[in-house]
Amino acid sequence: MLDEKIVIAKHIHKSFGDNEVLKDVSLSVHSGEVVVMIGPSGSGKSTFLRTLNGLETIDKGQVMVNGQLLYDKKVNLNQVRQNIGMVFQHFNLFPNMTILNNVIMAAISTKHFTPEKARQEAKKYLDMVDLSEKMNSYPAQLSGGQKQRVAIARALEMEPKIMLFDEPTSALDPEMVGDVLEVMQQLAQNGMTMIIVTHEMGFAKRVADRVVFFSDGMIQESGTPEEVFDRPASPRTQGFLERVL
Ligand code: ADP
Ligand code: MG
Repeated sequence: MLDEKIVIAKHIHKSFGDNEVLKDVSLSVHSGEVVVMIGPSGSGKSTFLRTLNGLETIDKGQVMVNGQLLYDKKVNLNQVRQNIGMVFQHFNLFPNMTILNNVIMAAISTKHFTPEKARQEAKKYLDMVDLSEKMNSYPAQLSGGQKQRVAIARALEMEPKIMLFDEPTSALDPEMVGDVLEVMQQLAQNGMTMIIVTHEMGFAKRVADRVVFFSDGMIQESGTPEEVFDRPASPRTQGFLERVL
């Protein structure tokens, strides 16, 4: 179904103590859609992404991912999370495991893949991120950009319905950024549903179906890249873009 909504977040409120970090945030994402979230540091982007994976508690609101309510007493979060791939700024690979084993471990334990199937799938994804020749290497032998591409392969191995990226290139040396963005662009072209927090504005323009500008715990504006970058309606968006572009 083309019009299927994979993520429906409605009226999310979240405070840390007195600090109201999410102020009535709503966002729906359709199957195959690529949503890029931009906005100043501290505006709540990471907290919001984490609510989509049940990694934060919320004070009010509803999140539904792939038809399952996350903030519900009856929810099996581990089961919901199997549909959600998440890639962070820091890749968190296991240093004592080969690249191949890093990629297959979670799939074997939670998806009950046979080792043979897990390896076969892992090879496919490592090939996709152009690292099949590093299969038997260890994380310490890889560059930051390569490690991040392994983290993407590891997430894909779980066959997620949606991929969440939280500043996946922010910790990388500039010369590594392009390869990671290229893998993400390829995923987008292959129809993966994605929500991406990034400061890479060129990437956002090229790849996003929709750009969401987040500031002060709220979605201030959202639209096509042309709408948000070329004709921003909100003064806050204009101010932010003037600073970063
Ligand atoms: P962004 O990703 O846009 O930079 P964050 O979601 O990380 O923003 O942070 C939003 C606000 O929430 C910040 O003021 C931050 O200090 C606060 N915050 C985030 N996580 C926590 C936490 N675990 N405990 C207390 N405050 C937090
Ligand atoms: Mg953040």
